[in-house]
Amino acid sequence: MPPLLSVDKLEAGYGPINVLHGISLTVEPGEIVAMIGANGAGKTTTLMSLSGVVKARGGRVVFDGRDLTAAKVPAHQVVRFGLAQSPEGRKIFPRLTVLENLQMGAFTRTDADGVKADIEKAFGMFPILRERQHQAGGLLSGGQQQMLAIARALMSRPKLLLLDEPSLGLAPQIVVQIFEVIRELNRQGMSVLLVEQNARMALKVAHRGYVLETGRVTMSDRADVLLNDPRIRAAYLGE
Ligand code: ATP
Repeated sequence: MPPLLSVDKLEAGYGPINVLHGISLTVEPGEIVAMIGANGAGKTTTLMSLSGVVKARGGRVVFDGRDLTAAKVPAHQVVRFGLAQSPEGRKIFPRLTVLENLQMGAFTRTDADGVKADIEKAFGMFPILRERQHQAGGLLSGGQQQMLAIARALMSRPKLLLLDEPSLGLAPQIVVQIFEVIRELNRQGMSVLLVEQNARMALKVAHRGYVLETGRVTMSDRADVLLNDPRIRAAYLGE
């Protein structure tokens, strides 16, 4: 089977600054792939270029058999192709209710009954969101907002979920819950590309991992191999 996502020598940046200097990676169907690296290594920029928010300056991104770079596919179209992002800092709509946030996640869809069914599914997975469905998103706790951001991304029925720092700023027991959700989604068949500062948790949940340093992939391997690599342990696992 061909990879679900294939990134080849991706280059991207902001204004005169190039941030990504030729990133190559793949995600196979059914995989959780982790991208780890220090602040500023280019992890967020990589996700943003995949979802079409930041334009690629070079290289190729092929997702589900479609070349996203050649046609300069815009972000809203990328969502339709099945690639959804839960952004860093969650970026939920604070004045919209929980329910409205979920409906916004389904903006590409016209099947009202399907959307309703998927909202029910999201409430099944995150019961707290059902309880709070009529409250403003901005009133939720950080962990609840993260759940909402993930649930909202799922509303487009993606084939690949891009998660940017889902554990950022959350209490340890909430982090455990979020990672359990990621594992459960994957069990149900979802492919995930996960960006994390929390390298240990990310590599524990992932099948494979990539290490980014200043816009380049410096290591990639099975997640358990990376977890046991002395260089990774010293640089990213605080040992
Ligand atoms: P972090 O965990 O801090 O988000 P990261 O690995 O995701 O780190 P990026 O956010 O991709 O790194 O940032 C890579 C580089 O690009 C950094 O030097 C950053 O300052 C720069 N950068 C990020 N966003 C912008 C922007 N909107 N305009 C200009 N420079 C940016």
